[in-house]
Amino acid sequence: MSDNDGKKPLGLGGSRPSNVKQSFSHGRTKNVVVETKRKRVVVPKPGAAKPAGSTGVQMGGDPSKRPAGISDVELERRMKALAMARARESDEAAKREAEEKERAAEREARRAEMEAKEAEDREREERAKAKAEEEKRKSERAAAKVKADATPAGADASALPGENAVDRPSAAGPRKVDRERDAREKAAKAKPGREDDGRRAGKLTLNDALTGREGGRQRSMAAMKRKQDRARAKAMGGSAEREKVFRDVALPPAITVSELANRMAERVADVVKALMQNGIMATQNQSIDADTAELIIEEFGHTVVRVSDADVEDVIKQVLDDPKDLVSRPPIVTIMGHVDHGKTSLLDAIRNAKVVAGEAGGITQHIGAYQVKTDSGSLLTFLDTPGHAAFTSMRSRGAQVTDIVVLVVAADDAVMPQTIEAINHAKAAKVPMIVAINKIDKPSANPDKVRTDLLMHEVVVEKMSGDVQDVEVSALTGKGLDNLLESIALQAEILELKANPDRAAVGAVIEAQLDVGRGPVATVLIQNGTLRQGDIFVVGEQYGKVRALINDKGERVAEAGPAVPVEVLGLNGTPEAGDVLNVVETDAQAREIAEYREKAAKEKRAAAGAATTLEQLMANAKANQNVSELPIVVKADVQGSAEAIVQAMEKIGNDEVRVRVLHSGVGAITETDIGLAEASGAPVFGFNVRANATARNSANQKGVEIRYYSVIYDLVDDVKKAASGLLSAEIREKFIGYATIKDVFKVSNVGKVAGCLVTEGVARRSAGVRLLRDDVVIHEGTLKTLKRFKDEVAEVQSGQECGMAFENYDDIRPGDVIEIFERESVERNL
Ligand code: GDP
Repeated sequence: MSDNDGKKPLGLGGSRPSNVKQSFSHGRTKNVVVETKRKRVVVPKPGAAKPAGSTGVQMGGDPSKRPAGISDVELERRMKALAMARARESDEAAKREAEEKERAAEREARRAEMEAKEAEDREREERAKAKAEEEKRKSERAAAKVKADATPAGADASALPGENAVDRPSAAGPRKVDRERDAREKAAKAKPGREDDGRRAGKLTLNDALTGREGGRQRSMAAMKRKQDRARAKAMGGSAEREKVFRDVALPPAITVSELANRMAERVADVVKALMQNGIMATQNQSIDADTAELIIEEFGHTVVRVSDADVEDVIKQVLDDPKDLVSRPPIVTIMGHVDHGKTSLLDAIRNAKVVAGEAGGITQHIGAYQVKTDSGSLLTFLDTPGHAAFTSMRSRGAQVTDIVVLVVAADDAVMPQTIEAINHAKAAKVPMIVAINKIDKPSANPDKVRTDLLMHEVVVEKMSGDVQDVEVSALTGKGLDNLLESIALQAEILELKANPDRAAVGAVIEAQLDVGRGPVATVLIQNGTLRQGDIFVVGEQYGKVRALINDKGERVAEAGPAVPVEVLGLNGTPEAGDVLNVVETDAQAREIAEYREKAAKEKRAAAGAATTLEQLMANAKANQNVSELPIVVKADVQGSAEAIVQAMEKIGNDEVRVRVLHSGVGAITETDIGLAEASGAPVFGFNVRANATARNSANQKGVEIRYYSVIYDLVDDVKKAASGLLSAEIREKFIGYATIKDVFKVSNVGKVAGCLVTEGVARRSAGVRLLRDDVVIHEGTLKTLKRFKDEVAEVQSGQECGMAFENYDDIRPGDVIEIFERESVERNL
């Protein structure tokens, strides 16, 4: 609607007055009356006598708008007014001409300045004066004319002609119409003056006429003001230069041009120019070395402060707390134990018992850790992820979070492989243990058996006159839970755990994920200091500013002190469990540290990818004095083998090199194992186990070496030789294919036959085969038969089905995988 209406006044087609709605910026609108005859009141232009005359006639001759009888007088008056307007117009033209001339003269004067500056100045002054006089004379003449025109009407000589016109016929006819018309006329006459302001007359004619002066003038003033401001700014800029600030510029070994400019607070273009002047062509994203950068920094007058990349971490270097600032803090407890011994049940039982008894209506949130209060008032923090996997992976990332380990052993079971692992992990981390003998509600429970079992693993509980606390509990009935909590509190007291709440927070990430609604969220266990909302921090390769803190009850809190787990919002990315959070002072520091760590990690990965084979590792060890350890990851089919391998490994080594088992476990080689191996540049040894598909891909990508063995002696031998640099690079075993068992048939005289699909490579009758179930080798041998349909064949290609039967073995099941390999008869060096 407004579109059409807005266009209408331009058309001016109708002869009747019509209402028009005009639209302006900011949604303003204005209703105005448009009359076609307005168009005829054209701007009197110099030399345009005829149209001006006709305007007068037209207006005078319009009987509908004004009373008859005064048309002649009116006509005469109008002619005079127009003549005056013309005179003024020509006056202004003359003025413009004079100004033009003046400008030309100035230009000329400037040119001549070098030769005869003073003389020229004088001349120009004179010329300007002459012109001014001329102008003055002209304007006097014009004023006289106006006076002459106005005087006969008997009105004030200074009044505008239009006003006179209104005053005079006032007695004779309706004033309103006249006034309206005259106002329009006035507006029309004011126009040439505005053209002088440099505005486009064509565009604004209508507006001026229709809306009156106000809008137009306001804009005009604003435009003028802007113009003046610009001119002033230009003049100022030319004369007064801003005072330069000289800075200390931190200079790492390499820096990009744009970053250098940024640190000096100079323009990138200026820096590029300066480089160019020094004969270095560099774009803004290009890195330049510190020496070049130093040259440039000094050229700009700043001071160079050389830093090494790693120096960015200096801001978070640990400050030792003054003992008097330390206050005791709650212990952080991890529950470990064999699968199904009741770790999860125990954690839930403690949480539920205490939350129901403690906080009214508290709805617990699983954020990875929670705090409970014992009946005697001690606070305890429990890590919600039971098991030693999380514990170890956190430790391997540099975050030793746990103060006390609760070892859960089911009273109806015995000490199991993972119980032993847990004991070893706790011992390795030098963390005190408390034994929780669980499931004592069961009739078959035999707590004393557990106690004696533990003796064999050098865990002597109090009941056996040792110093390890033991508590009988039932996660199911809740019996003994309070005793357990009090034991933990007592242990914590012995440990004298302390922290300084009045320092910048340090914490460890125990869980992190990307939340759809909230962005990256990390649960951080504060280890020292106090984390507050608004704190700027760096955590691993990420950084951020604490937007919100949420506790284990799902409540928003303003701060979190030592041993308190909180969800932290406001990260720029998702960190990893075990990453350490440090509060720093500025956003720039946080970003710089995070970027440095990211870069360093990338370089480490690249380096690790290039050197994770045994040989390369050892070569590195020889070339680099620092590498005196051969880290390895061991996975085996049973706990016994794993332990035997680990023990054998620990015996290998001399003063220069020793083998360090990063991780040993039972079961298939998983992506986690590859991750751990990659981070430490370790190879992975599979003893009668295989890597699953994702782990295999991951290992290929990251360049982690996986070695499979089925004889412990071979494995130990290889590592020994690697350690002494004697390992031959030849591959002794080559996998030529894999087949999956789809079905198993019983065939008389043959036994069990597997109906298989060859999924990779080829199946060869003469090759060796292994039967894998869940990536664990359960049989190794040869084939009795390889059939394609009814025929015995030598080879079956990938994608084809076949029948296979093992020599002397028939425990085969659908879903098992057959690995087909050939031994290469390569003599190994020594
Ligand atoms: P986790 O694998 O160590 O975390 O063990 P869970 O907590 O999952 O417990 C394994 C099984 O043991 C579950 O079926 C529990 O219900 C049961 N369980 C755990 N604690 C007790 C207990 O104190 N008494 C009895 N009778 N059963 C228990």
